[in-house]
Amino acid sequence: MIIADDIPYEMLDQVRDFLAKAIEPEKNVHVRGTSKKVTAEQIESAATFYLRRMLPRLHKKVRVFVKLARSKALAREWSSRSDDGLIVHGFCTWLDSNHRPREFEIYINGDLSAKTILTALAHEIVHVKQWATGELKEYITNRPEKWRGVDYTDGNYYEFPWEIDAYENESVLYEEYMVNAN
Ligand SMILES: [Zn+2]
Repeated sequence: MIIADDIPYEMLDQVRDFLAKAIEPEKNVHVRGTSKKVTAEQIESAATFYLRRMLPRLHKKVRVFVKLARSKALAREWSSRSDDGLIVHGFCTWLDSNHRPREFEIYINGDLSAKTILTALAHEIVHVKQWATGELKEYITNRPEKWRGVDYTDGNYYEFPWEIDAYENESVLYEEYMVNAN
């Protein structure tokens, strides 16, 4: 038996994700954290919709852990991975493998407006599609380096092809979701 006090603080997230998977194995979106602007149910429903649209054949094999974080906590989390000073709406990392991963962690800034939160979520799900299909591939570090075989280790964030793809698709996905959800 595991006693909560025995689990190191930094491992609690992993333990929660593990339990979420064990308790609800049929679900492929698990939401944690809170936001004053959206409910966990809205996040789950939007993420599920986006996954189906982006990965029509693969969506059932993909599992996503979405974490709603406060703006400051997110900035801290992000700056441990990157040194740029962007206002962070969200980010996505794989958990299992850097080659066509199936498990992902998405952080979303829960302090944004509902529309911005759901659009940021769509943006990050586009990155899930890129990783899951092997379009986006990284090696040793957390930084994406290759896109369709081309190395982009150094470059401008807004000019990365995976970001152009995500920015082009985020609003389309959000609008489609809003039409379908209502
Ligand atoms: Zn992005």
